Amino acid sequence: MQPVLSINGISKSYGSIKALKNVSFDVPEGSVFGILGPNGSGKTTMLSILLDILKADSGTFAWFGQPGSPDTRKKIGSLLETPNFYHYLSAVDNLHITQAISGRGTDADIDHVLEIVKLAERKHSKFSAYSLGMKQRLAIAAALLGNPQVLVFDEPTNGLDPVGIAEIRELIRELAIRGKTIIMASHLLDEVEKVCTHLAILKKGTLLTAGQVDEVLSNEDIVEVSSGDPDHLKSILNEFPGYSSIKQEGKNVRVFFPVGTAKLEEINRFCFEKGITLNLLSVKKKSLETKFFELTND
Ligand code: ADP
Ligand code: MG
Repeated sequence: MQPVLSINGISKSYGSIKALKNVSFDVPEGSVFGILGPNGSGKTTMLSILLDILKADSGTFAWFGQPGSPDTRKKIGSLLETPNFYHYLSAVDNLHITQAISGRGTDADIDHVLEIVKLAERKHSKFSAYSLGMKQRLAIAAALLGNPQVLVFDEPTNGLDPVGIAEIRELIRELAIRGKTIIMASHLLDEVEKVCTHLAILKKGTLLTAGQVDEVLSNEDIVEVSSGDPDHLKSILNEFPGYSSIKQEGKNVRVFFPVGTAKLEEINRFCFEKGITLNLLSVKKKSLETKFFELTND
């Protein structure tokens, strides 16, 4: 399946500050994709480039397999900074203004997006009477106008209390169930772990790793194995002792072991004795602690 977004070698400097250094990764359709990194790692810069707010110094990116165009931009809803809503107007009136200025969606969408973010009952309240969490949900409602396929959120829970954070998380999960692809930047490992299916980790503008959350963050060794016949290989490896899970991934089979317990020679011998010759056998990953040690230390 073609990725929703493909990023190839993006670099960006502000004067002598290198904010992004040759970053590449793909965002699969239907994923909740977290861009995780401490403050200053380049997350907002990356999202701004992807939304044509900033221009990269080098590298390319493609949405839906195509270079950016007004047409592709219509399929992307975004929330980078809190929008300038009018404090003395209601949610509904604010969205009418947003809709008219952006040209996204129609008046008829407004009630629908307010339903999705659970503000329908408070839609006639003034913006100034909203809690921070409600304001953030209204901003997400604005991003939903025009029913975009992809949503881009920068630190969507920043500044919210625990209840507000939980509500935004729940909303992101619901949007994913509705089939949206969601790309969100966050500096919180916990948040990314809870809502994202995929992530990319940035540190000082460099991509450390990208992939499925359960693989990147799992405290497990992943042994990647391949032979001519993946179905047969998987059925044989089902008998191998000591693994925690096993899955087929394209032509390869991935066997997960508690960290430090994968024994390649034993897997090789086991398969050979069952009449299978492997053409690939390698350990793919490191533990969560190792990843985060790299992330937070120099
Ligand atoms: P993040 O969103 O991960 O916190 P940013 O993309 O905002 O990171 O920033 C990445 C780096 O670029 C930081 O060192 C930041 O200070 C710098 N930076 C961001 N915007 C500007 C700017 N407009 N001018 C100069 N430096 C900037
Ligand atoms: Mg930022």
